[in-house]
Formats: sequence, C-alpha cells, structure tokens
Amino acid sequence: MTAPGKPPRFERVALIGIGLINGSLALNLRRARLAGEIVACARTEATLEKAQALGLADRTTTRPRAAVADADLVVIGTPPAAAGAVAKAMAPGLARGAIVTDVGSIKAQIIREVVPHLPEPGRFVAGHPVAGTEHSGPEAAFETLFRGRHCILTPLEDTDPAAVATVTAMWQAAGMTVETMTPEHHDRVLAITSHLPHLIAYTIVGTVADLEEHLQTEVLRYAAGGFTDFTRIAGSDPVMWRDVFLSNREAVLEMLGRFTEDLAALQRAIRWGEGDKLQDLFTRTRAVRRGVIAEGQAYDRQALVGGGPEGGSDGAAQGRDP
Ligand code: NAP
Repeated sequence: MTAPGKPPRFERVALIGIGLINGSLALNLRRARLAGEIVACARTEATLEKAQALGLADRTTTRPRAAVADADLVVIGTPPAAAGAVAKAMAPGLARGAIVTDVGSIKAQIIREVVPHLPEPGRFVAGHPVAGTEHSGPEAAFETLFRGRHCILTPLEDTDPAAVATVTAMWQAAGMTVETMTPEHHDRVLAITSHLPHLIAYTIVGTVADLEEHLQTEVLRYAAGGFTDFTRIAGSDPVMWRDVFLSNREAVLEMLGRFTEDLAALQRAIRWGEGDKLQDLFTRTRAVRRGVIAEGQAYDRQALVGGGPEGGSDGAAQGRDP
C-alpha cells in the first residue's frame, strides 16, 4: 500500500472512453479540482452528448489523436480489446512527457497491446480501479464509486517512478487505496476474485433461462434472493466480459479447473449423504463472508446511489464486482 501523496494538478486530462469508470473519474477530478480542462473521447456522438450534458467533460471529440493534444494525463477507459487500437490512433498526438494510464480489468494483454504504440513507454502506468457496477455508459457514473476501494497499478521495470507516483496520488484523491503488483499477478488474483464469479453467474443464469424456455416453468417469476443476486452479476456488460475471458484465458482456465474439482467433491458429498462435509465447508465460507465484511469490501445495496459497487462487474467478487 502506498502512503497518500500530494494531489496532482493536471492542465488538461484526456479521457479516452467516457463510460462508468472514466465518467466517475471525471467527477472526482472535478470535485478535487485536479484538472484545468477535461477532454472526453468516445466512438459515438450520442455518448459524447450525454457526457457533456452530465458535466463530465469541457470538450469532446470522436478522434483519439485530437483528444490527447497537449494533455498532460491520458486515461484509456475503453473496453479492454479496444485499448491497443486506441493507443495506436492517439500516439501521434501525445505531448512530450504526457502520462498515459488505463483502467482495464485485465492487465498483461492490455500492456502488450498498448506499449508498442507509445512514444514514451516509460510514461505508461497500467492500472485497474477495482470498483464497478453492472451499469455502463456516462449516465452510470457517480462520484463515490471509488471511495474505500482498492486500485491496483502494474508498473513495469522501466516505468518512470514519478509517473507512478502521480497516478497513485490521483486515485488516492478519489478515495482509493493504491497497491502495485506485476500484471501477471494481478490477472491471477482477479481471475479468482472477479472473473470466476462472473463466469459462474453467467452459467447459472443461462441454465435457468434455458430451463424456463424448455420446460415452460415459472422459475424466473419465483426467483428468490440467491438467484436474483446472480442475475445482478450476470447483467454486467457483455462486451467487456467477453474481452476479459478471452484476454485472461490462462488464469481463468486454471481457476476454473480448481473450481470444477471442488464442485465435483461437493456433488459426491451430497450423493453420499456426507452432511458433515457440507456443513464444514459452509462454516468456512461463512467465515470468509465475515472476513470480507470486516475488510469493508461488502456493500449494502440499498444504501448505494446509482447502482453502486454492490452491483455486477468488476466489484462483484468483492462482496458484491468486477
Ligand atoms: P462503458 O461504460 O461501457 O464505457 C466504455 C467507453 O468506451 C464508452 O465511452 C465507449 O464509447 C468507448 N468505446 C467503446 N468501444 C470503443 C472503441 N472500440 N474505441 C473507442 N472507444 C470505445 O465501460 P466501463 O464500464 O467504464 O469500462 C471501461 C474500462 O474499465 C474497461 O476496460 C473495463 O475493463 C474497466 N473496468 C470496468 C469496471 C466495471 O465494473 N464496469 C470496473 C473496473 C474497470 P461509445 O459509447 O461511443 O461506444
């Protein structure tokens, strides 16, 4: 964990992609007065109009290269699979010394695809604010999204320490605790805490939806608390999660292997009537839940505005996703 640094001050911040995450960052940059000007970039005018109407940007453009002109900070907040193309498009417009960072939920592949395009690779600080909801777009942004949550930075050996310190201080100003680790370690940790829970939620909800269709049952109508919680996570953005699983394939498959072994053991315990084994596991998992609450990483859904971090996506696995 890094000690709080002096909040940075940027003349011009370019937010490439202006949805839930970069939109919420924009609200924090404004509140803490960290940016002289915010320029937002998206693929469509419709998104940019919403962002401007919500006060998330001073200027907007659909052209990444124009967006980054004279910016001292650039934050890539597109779906992970678009990051490489965006970096390529914006690179010729980057000012000398500009810090480039990102917010993607996977790190190794984004770094592989972004770094080769950048004129100053040492000024790229890859990052992942581990906070999110199942909602997308600028209208889903809210200022308290990052408060009390963790942000993971994954600098490389040749990343400029001053750039890391600046990005660290920015996320701290948004209320986050900042840690650093290698990109590979990040991807393994998130595979188990976030990606696997999403995969399980997508599977369960898919199975039930198929059942409903084929058996003409009322499963969905009588969905009780447990299933409803899974639908919340499974409501997360399809494009983003497609990218996450394809990009973090090795780590996800490893964790999935462990999970299916444990599931088979549970199946056997039920078949053989081994109640002590079931109770033993459920007692241990209850302790895990209490540990998560004690860490301050579980959220009361009712208490959150704008479908807060208890919702699906990156924060789900922390007691809520993504
Ligand atoms: P989002 O709300 O869907 O916003 C995505 C933004 O990227 C939109 O402005 C979109 O513009 C733009 N975009 C989409 N495809 C693009 C492309 N091919 N080229 C250029 N711009 C493109 O997404 P988000 O939830 O903020 O997620 C953004 C990043 O944060 C992702 O990398 C994700 O992994 C990471 N993250 C997400 C969460 C979460 O819970 N959602 C949590 C932590 C980190 P248009 O609307 O015009 O297409």
